[in-house]
Amino acid sequence: MRLLILSDIHANLDALEACLAAAPPYDGVANLGDIVGYGACPNEVVERARELGEIFVRGNHDRACSGLTDAGDFNPIAYAAATWTKRTLTEENRTWVRDLPRGPITDATWPKLQFVHGSPLDEDDYILSAPSAEIALESSPFPVTFFGHTHVQGVIGLQGRELFTVNFERGRRDRQTVSRVSLEDEVRYLVNPGSVGQPRDGDPRAGFAVYDAEEHAITFHRIPYDVPRAQHRIVSAGLPDRLAARLTDGR
Ligand code: ZN
Repeated sequence: MRLLILSDIHANLDALEACLAAAPPYDGVANLGDIVGYGACPNEVVERARELGEIFVRGNHDRACSGLTDAGDFNPIAYAAATWTKRTLTEENRTWVRDLPRGPITDATWPKLQFVHGSPLDEDDYILSAPSAEIALESSPFPVTFFGHTHVQGVIGLQGRELFTVNFERGRRDRQTVSRVSLEDEVRYLVNPGSVGQPRDGDPRAGFAVYDAEEHAITFHRIPYDVPRAQHRIVSAGLPDRLAARLTDGR
């Protein structure tokens, strides 16, 4: 049984389609939130996400772009994008985004896993530092917690009292790369599949992950996609130029 893990698509249809085309066969899909916000194709991406199903967690941009929160804590560029997205979403799609569930989410089919947007403790927390990772891992009874929000693909493990990170080869940016991590039974993991639509780890390729329950292993994928096309859509929509520019560098 394989689970496709998508996060932080951010209304980037070109990146999402490239990921789905490159993904190996899977039996289910978990979506860790921030389906919309920043990118120019919120309706198309919401509709694709709805078709894919099936495990969903809401993100902070999903809340702001559907009017559930007022986006008052967003920077001016994110605020402009949230306002544009709220206006652009159809009423049906906006309602669907607004009603996405708050994490942590669990699913009986995948008993070893939990799914969050930010952290198991707070959906808006960023797990970027060792202390925040340690607190999250100590609070969680699940062998594997999938999280997003930081847009940085990676693995953090806790074995006994020892925290460690797993690094993988990045490879060439014009090619697809796949890195495999075998999970150990005595370790608890925090796993970020990477951002589909707006990577921020210096690699502009779209990121996603696939969990294999039988092998208790995860593969991490980086997929080149048509960045100029996504940028053209952003500029044409009248969204801030910076949202297009940052896709070039993955920052
Ligand atoms: Zn995000």
